[in-house]
Amino acid sequence: MSLILTLGAVLGLSITSVSIGIAAQKSTEDPAAAKNQKNIDICTQNLLAIGKAVQAYHNENGDYPEWLSVLHPKYLPDANFLLCPADELGGKPLFSSNADPKMPVSYGYQFHPEYRAEKIEQRKMYGDAMPLVRCRHHANQPFDCLNLSFSFKVYPSSHVWESAPEEMYGTPQKAIVALEKGLQRQPDNESFFDVYLTLARLYIKAGREEGIESLINRFKSVIKPDNIKAHFYLAELLEMMKRDEEVFETFKKLEAQAPNDRGVLRKLAHLHQELGEVELAIDYQRKAEPSPELIGKPVPDFFAANAPRSDVDSATDLDGNPISLQQYRGKVVLLDFWAVWCGFCIVEMPNLKNVYDTYKDQGFDIIGVSLDDEEAELRNYLKENDIPWRQIFSGQGFESPLVQQYGIDGIPAPWLIARDGTLISTDARGVLLEYLVVEALQDKSENE
Ligand SMILES: [Zn+2]
Repeated sequence: MSLILTLGAVLGLSITSVSIGIAAQKSTEDPAAAKNQKNIDICTQNLLAIGKAVQAYHNENGDYPEWLSVLHPKYLPDANFLLCPADELGGKPLFSSNADPKMPVSYGYQFHPEYRAEKIEQRKMYGDAMPLVRCRHHANQPFDCLNLSFSFKVYPSSHVWESAPEEMYGTPQKAIVALEKGLQRQPDNESFFDVYLTLARLYIKAGREEGIESLINRFKSVIKPDNIKAHFYLAELLEMMKRDEEVFETFKKLEAQAPNDRGVLRKLAHLHQELGEVELAIDYQRKAEPSPELIGKPVPDFFAANAPRSDVDSATDLDGNPISLQQYRGKVVLLDFWAVWCGFCIVEMPNLKNVYDTYKDQGFDIIGVSLDDEEAELRNYLKENDIPWRQIFSGQGFESPLVQQYGIDGIPAPWLIARDGTLISTDARGVLLEYLVVEALQDKSENE
């Protein structure tokens, strides 16, 4: 009995903290804000009720339910608790992979049969503060998800909770303690090497940078010499401590070991660029090309499978206008295969905008080829982020005609095309995009 009371008190506290945290951001006079807040309060109560039902289920069965619907009616008589008032999908979580197979449930259950093995592993590292049930229906809030943890507390967080464990634990200090424990349990589990980086970021946030040195030494003692991905993590740790020479040595060693690894070559291009050694940087960038046989060859124009025959092959842009590479001849063009769901593409976007703004008046342009499925999602992103260049969209992802035509099998795939229509690079991004663009723009003056 006393255990339940204590739990109630703890839960009561977490409701208060959620309400206060969010109310402070919006004026209570605003009716939309008041409604959002009310939805969050009801959703919080729902999650707490689900938590109690899960706990009751666990006490009786010694395990978690397969799906939340299993709780109803025995452990959760009122099925309305499974519906968030902000859910406009009529009883579905945002990710269909989390959809309950038996009844309408707004919440993403993180311990269903397909996720379970992975979550058990994660729990050994991150502890019981990690999410068990998540709601993603509260759009336009300063958080992505409302979560119910394995220890039945409710807290708001980012979508990728692993990247910000301080949201789960309340403070960076508490998250450091929890993750240090997790790393003690499994310091050499390669699936969790990113935790070393997360911890380093937490040390910086907590003003304890000195903790990173010991973290680096511990990490060095567990990584295998041929684990290239782990060396990228090590490089990030070293860069945090401004040990740049060591980063360079690490990658020169890796290059000797794996001379054709594109990731290593790209990193070396980046490092040389930072040292101001532009020619070496471009050399490495060329070596890192995924399709070197295409470089220097003319890029064929868009082949529109469904369009009537015409002299010029073309596709249609998002505004319904015909678009072809021919229209851009004489310009340096980035044909950028991307999607809103592609993390690396989105990370690159500010760089693209910057290069576009700087060189658009000198003859540089961009054509986006979106691999998104949802047109509305694409249009929203373009509007919110003020992306001015034209886009081609078919809604068919990797089955899109242009993706098929150019044989794109992964994104980002930014193809840089010279003024004369020949291919400069199929991987023009990061710091080197600008160098390649500048070099290509200069080609015209050389020809004149
Ligand atoms: Zn909700």
